[in-house]
Amino acid sequence: MGRLVPLRPDLNALSGYHSPQVDVEVRLNTNESPLPPPEQWLAELRSELGSIAFNRYPDREVLDLRRALAELHEVEPEEIFCANGSNEVLQCLLLAYGGSGRSVALFEPTYALHSHIASLTATEVVSTWRGPDHRIDFPDADSLVERVRPVITFLCSPNNPTGRSEPPELVAHLLERSHGLLVVDEAYGQFAPTSALDLRRRGAKGVERLVVVRTFSKTWSMAACRLGYLVADREVVEACESVVLPYHLDAVTQLAGRLALRHVGAMEERIALVNEERGRIAAALSELAVETWPSDANFILFRPLERPAKQVWYDLLDSSVLIRDCSEWRGLTECLRVTVGTPTENDRFLSALRSSLGSVR
Ligand code: PMP
Repeated sequence: MGRLVPLRPDLNALSGYHSPQVDVEVRLNTNESPLPPPEQWLAELRSELGSIAFNRYPDREVLDLRRALAELHEVEPEEIFCANGSNEVLQCLLLAYGGSGRSVALFEPTYALHSHIASLTATEVVSTWRGPDHRIDFPDADSLVERVRPVITFLCSPNNPTGRSEPPELVAHLLERSHGLLVVDEAYGQFAPTSALDLRRRGAKGVERLVVVRTFSKTWSMAACRLGYLVADREVVEACESVVLPYHLDAVTQLAGRLALRHVGAMEERIALVNEERGRIAAALSELAVETWPSDANFILFRPLERPAKQVWYDLLDSSVLIRDCSEWRGLTECLRVTVGTPTENDRFLSALRSSLGSVR
């Protein structure tokens, strides 16, 4: 069927970003927190909702939330930019720094939205492939940034969907070698032992070009709110502010985020639980006929060795367990990704997987 109006020609080849949402009992496909936010947070949110002037636009500068985040990260509020999920943060970076005639560099396989949003903003994407074990090779990375001179080099640490965080030496190395911004997407940063924010604290060489992106969707149990932010030089923050729509971040989300920051302890407890469960799942997987990779995030990538991944995915679905099918993604042939859930959900996943792989004893 013809289109009503022709699309922008460069969009014709793009398909949207989709993760199938099926109605299941155990949902382990989109890397959210398996636990709701603390009850105390909800009580505070309910009681403070009454103080919002709903007939007025929200604070355009998001000042209270930025102040609270600045305190958390020991930076200035002018070094924080907030938006509707870290995806919107990424979009603002690409609107500000990308565009036609400009390139970004990235290391596949990685989070699909980096290249997707780059393409949406007519920015050229130049990538190189990770080596064995999904690690980035230093000389490959050097030659990529030297050849492309990207406006942005993207790292994702821990990397979605492979799971491992990038070594701090690599982040520091790329910061020195690259000429444009180095955007480190730390959507899963709190699960990992290191953060690029440490480089910032240390004042590493080139740190003024470092952008660290974080989200409330995972560790803060607030995916429904759509809240993400970046920590960067104030010039980068101003650039994002110049492209984002006015009043983009609603007052409820601003309030929800600010109140969440009072519950750092509860967030850390959730991280500890997820990391412990991640270890338990990894240990169980190591006993099965699957290849797995170490993870510093709240998910694990694995490859069934004796049964087609798609079949395993359907077997799990039959047991009402939904995981992510990456088996047709380039560089991830036959791979599946499971999000760490609650202990009960993880038991359901492991038992369904054992049945599928035929290893029930
Ligand atoms: N970055 C990475 C690496 C992700 O995996 C995700 C969520 N899938 C996001 C960013 C986006 O998160 P949100 O927009 O919910 O903050």
